[in-house]
Formats: sequence, structure tokens, C-alpha cells
Amino acid sequence: MDNDTARHALADHLSKLGIRDPAVLRAVRDVPRDAFLPPELQEFAYDDAPLPIGEGQTISQPFVVALMAQEARLRPSGRVLEVGTGSGYAAAIFSRIAAEVYTIERLAGLADLASERLEDLGYDNVFVRHGDGTLGWPEAAPFDAILVAAGGPDLPATLKEQLAPGGRLIIPVGDTPREQRLVCVQRRDGKFDRTDLGAVRFVPLVGQEGWGERGERRTAQPSRAVRAVTPPHGSTVSLLRDVAEPVRAIGSADLGSLVERIGSARVVLLGEATHGTSEFYRMRARITRELIEHHGFNLVTIEGDWPDAAQVHRWARGASPNGQPAPFQRFPTWMWRNRETNAFLSWLREWNSHAGPERQVGFHGLDLYSLYSSIDAVLLYLDRIDPAAARVARERYGCLTPWQRDAATYGRAAATGQYRLCENDVVAMLQDLLARRLDYVEKDGDRYLDAVQNARLIADAEQYYRVMYRGGHHSWNLRDRHMVETLQVLLAWHGEQAKAVVWAHNSHVGDAEATEMGAQGQTNIGALTRRWLGDAAFNVGFGTDRGTVAAASDWGAPLEIKALRPAREGSYEALCRETGIPGFLLHLREPEREEIREELADPRLERAVGVIYRPETELQSHYFHASLPLQFDAWIWFDETVAVEPLELAQHGTIGPAVFPFTA
Ligand code: SAM
Repeated sequence: MDNDTARHALADHLSKLGIRDPAVLRAVRDVPRDAFLPPELQEFAYDDAPLPIGEGQTISQPFVVALMAQEARLRPSGRVLEVGTGSGYAAAIFSRIAAEVYTIERLAGLADLASERLEDLGYDNVFVRHGDGTLGWPEAAPFDAILVAAGGPDLPATLKEQLAPGGRLIIPVGDTPREQRLVCVQRRDGKFDRTDLGAVRFVPLVGQEGWGERGERRTAQPSRAVRAVTPPHGSTVSLLRDVAEPVRAIGSADLGSLVERIGSARVVLLGEATHGTSEFYRMRARITRELIEHHGFNLVTIEGDWPDAAQVHRWARGASPNGQPAPFQRFPTWMWRNRETNAFLSWLREWNSHAGPERQVGFHGLDLYSLYSSIDAVLLYLDRIDPAAARVARERYGCLTPWQRDAATYGRAAATGQYRLCENDVVAMLQDLLARRLDYVEKDGDRYLDAVQNARLIADAEQYYRVMYRGGHHSWNLRDRHMVETLQVLLAWHGEQAKAVVWAHNSHVGDAEATEMGAQGQTNIGALTRRWLGDAAFNVGFGTDRGTVAAASDWGAPLEIKALRPAREGSYEALCRETGIPGFLLHLREPEREEIREELADPRLERAVGVIYRPETELQSHYFHASLPLQFDAWIWFDETVAVEPLELAQHGTIGPAVFPFTA
């Protein structure tokens, strides 16, 4: 029998076994299974059986491939993720039915071979990646179907998260690495319905959310990739005690060793483990003052919106209140409207009032949540400087006006395909402003920078709200890229001597590549800045064990002063607590003793509290795995901390525009 006849015979056999989907049967008739096998196995190519493909792995049994494709209800427009490329045969089958197939193989040799083979055979809608498929393919998510060709102990939470609404995950799941039940999970209305498709036998799924290398079960964890946690170790704690430099009081701590290491950095990133801890704000301010006073830093940039920070910037450079509403009134107000920031800003205004022109310091926001106030700012600017251009801008930005109440609804509407996308309009506006740079700068340089940055923000925010709707890491990455681009614009604007400090959460400032989020495709300011500047970027992480913190229970909910739970055993924070030192500075890039980097290198849990703090689900909501010495160049620790003092509470919610920027 020739191969063509054998393929038809195989399809007939499968239809007798219950494969009814015509698209699946057509694909079986179409894909040459022989091309996916070594020469010595050619004669068995159209047997309905798994066969060895090297490295202890197998090409899947045609019936199982067909069953999975049928149960996943693959559709011509669908996007499919396959975990376990193996020979590439199943991916080729799926590619005949769906629009795009993303397939991941953990063994590099198999991934390379399959990739070459698929390309040679002309399957140009299949994309092969070498890696751990249990973590999915975040940049391409969400998927209409995820098909896992290896058996895991549980349903990988990350894969479930990468399913599109209505999407199906087909995966063998079993209590031992070699025997499983084939399970179909469908995402419906935010829930996951599970159906059992019968007993199967697959090779083990080995990965962060699968089995361990030796077939051991990894710690179960609902929604996070998990690695084994190294418990605090006596010798690590005593080494930590040896190298930690105690910080007794923030105001008088000797920062010499830190500042000396920061030395020639162009960008210093100062993190925070929560968005509401007083010590973090005060220590960042202390370090920043040192950098401004003695090391020529002239830009302070924050994880806050550009237009709000621009108001503060003008005030800090001596302008008087101009009747505008006070800045940073959008949730979460306490992030910047607090006594700690206020004290720093008062100092900054004072500094600027004495400093010569070359020592003046700017205050800028890197974030992109201010879509509509940025539109107002661009229009206001153009009204003043070029009324004809203002008319064009009104028309273009008008595209976004219907969604003014909640920019996220623009993203939802755009995804339906029934509304006009505003992308071309906002990009054209930015290009116009950039093209007229020479003209406009001549009239007013600083205001031009402000306007063009608002236009850039609008263009990025338009994209941000569109991709946010697609889920995954896209929107996070876009936001952090925008923050780094803003930083680049500022440094370029102020010339070669310019040096910047960044105040943002640890999750933006620590190198994402050293965290489990990085392994899933997330990047951040820390990672991008290191890639851009190398050693001229220096990042400092901050941590705490217990105390109080300012946070909300939900997005938009009222601010609360919450008790911060003592850190979990097995975390970096628990290790720091064990030292018994109330506050310390730890050098990680150039430590006093190199061993500390090795001792701390194995990933442990680390805590991140944002605007929202949910102590009841702390492990799932606030802990992730990271390698501290890879993530940060230095680490600052405060055992027990207190919440920032939000001005809202201090003044019983009566902040008025009269007090500018925050308090008199
Ligand atoms: N469907 C493939 C075919 O048609 O040739 C056969 C897949 S074979 C049964 C399972 C594959 O899953 C193996 O090649 C194995 O290396 C791979 N695998 C196991 N765990 C994995 C993981 N976490 N990520 C990606 N691939 C994995």
C-alpha cells in the first residue's frame, strides 16, 4: 500500500473508532506521518500506535491526536497551543484545522528537529518554541484550545488562565507519571467545567506546573508556578548577619557604601515591597537627596501619571499654584498624596530655589493611566501655540471621547471589531507633534516636552487598553516599556550629564528575568533598564516582615490601614527576619562576601503588596518566586514597618485645590 492509500485507510479506521469531525479526518488524510519518523520506522507510519522518536519520547497515537483535536472543537479561525511538540506530527494535524498553532517542547533536540521539519514541509502557521510548556505562551495567549501531549499531576493553573472564554484545555491528568485520564476543561463564564474522556497513557509532563525531573510531585499551588522552597538555613542566616550593614535610623543611616557602589550609575531604581509603607518612602527620599546633593542626579521619576507629576514638577521648580485641581486625585491617591512624599517635595522645592540652573531637579511621572487628562493637556497646549493643529487634534482625539468614563471599555469595544479603532488617529497626532518639534520648541521648550510626552502617553495608552482586554502579559509589558521610553526621552532631553532616580514598586524595579513572572514572558523597568544601560543601571529592592500598611481591599475601594502579616516561612523575608536585625542594607552586586550571592541564589518566595492587600489569600495573591541576588543590586530591609500617612486621613478628606501640591 502506498502512503497516500495508507493515510486514507488510517482515516477510515479512526472514523470507525468514533472520530466524526470531517476536518479532523481530512487532516489525517492530508498530513504525511511518515515524514515525522526516522527511516527505520517508516513501515509502521500508518499504524494506529505511538512510536519512539528518540530521547525516550514518542510520536502520539493517531487516534489520540484525532480525539484531542475533535474534543477541542478546533475551528478554522482558532488559535491553538500544543504542549509537547515531540515529532511535530500532532501540530501539523492541528495546523490543517485551525489558523495558528503554537507548540512548545521541553527537549531542545526534539524542538529543533520538529521546527526544521515543519518548515521544510511548508506548515507555515506552526510556531515552535523550546521551553516549559506548563507555563504556556503568554505573548500569544489567549488560546481557543490548549492540547497537552504529556500527562501531569494536576491541571496547570497557568494554562487555564491562558484559555480564551469558551476555550478548551485537553490534558491527561493522573496520580502517577505514567497513567492518566484524558480531561477536557472548558472555560465558561469565568468558571472551568471538567469532562472525563477516558483512560490514556502519555509520557510525563515535566515542568514547573507538572512533574519534577525525577517524577516527584511538586508542591500544589492554585495559581502560581511553584518551585521547591528552600527552608531558612542556619548558615545562610549567620552569613546574612555577617554581611548585613545595620540601618538604625533612616535620617542618620550611613549610606556611604551604597552611594559608593551606585557611583557612576545613570539610572538608580528604588523599589518598595508595598505601595503604602512609610519606611520605604522615607528611605527612598533619603537616598535620593544624597544622590541629588552629592552626585549630580537631576531627575526624580515615579510610578505615577505624567500630567499629575508635571503639575508637581512646576511647583517644585518655583511656580505658584495656578488654580488647577490638586494632582494625584485618582485612585490610589495615597501612593503620592502622603506626608512622606510631601516632605520630600517641600525639600525639593527648597533645593531648586537655591540650586543654579544646572543643578535644578525635575519631577516626572512615568505611568500611562492618564489618557483623558493627557488629551486635555495636548489640546490646551495646541490651543495656545497652534490653534489650527488644535482643531485637527480635537477631531482625532474625538475618536476616544465616547469611552471617557472608563478607558477600559474602549479596549472591550475595540475587541468586538464593531467600533472604530483610534490607533491611527493617536499615532498621527504624536507624529505631527514630533515633526513640528523645531517650530514648537522655539516657542517654549519645556511645554513642548510636556505636550509631546502626553501625546506619546495617549498613543501608548490607546494600545494598552486594547491589549489589556486580551489578557496575558501584553498590557503589563506595554506599560513598563512606556515607562522606560519616558525615562529615555527625559534623559535625552536633559543631555549626557542627566541622571535619574526611579521610584516604583519592586515588581517594576527588580529584574523580571529573575522572577517566575519573567519565566512566563513578563518584562519590566528593571529588566529593560539593565539591557539598555548594563552596569550603569542600579536597582535597590525593599522588604519588610510585619507591621501596618496602607492599601485597599479592591480596586477603587476605600483606603484602609491594614495589619501586614508576618512573612511566610521559606520566603526571603522570613530569612531576613531570622537575622534579628531590625533594619539593614545588603549588597548583592558587589557583596562583602561573594558566598552570600550563592546562598541566596536559589529561588524563594518573595512578597509583593500593591495597591490592594488581601491578607486572607496572601500566598496566592502576594507571593511569587524569585532569585533575590539576580533581581536586585542591593536590598534594604526593615523588620517592622508602619503605613504611610495618607493626607486624606490626616485632613479628613478635605484636600482642596488651595493647598498645592499637597499641604501648605
Ligand atoms: N504530539 C507529539 C507528536 O505528535 O509527536 C508527541 C508528544 S510526546 C507524547 C510528549 C512530548 O512532551 C515529549 O516530546 C516531551 O518531551 C514533551 N514534554 C513533556 N513535558 C513537557 C513540558 N513541560 N513542556 C513541553 N514539552 C514537554
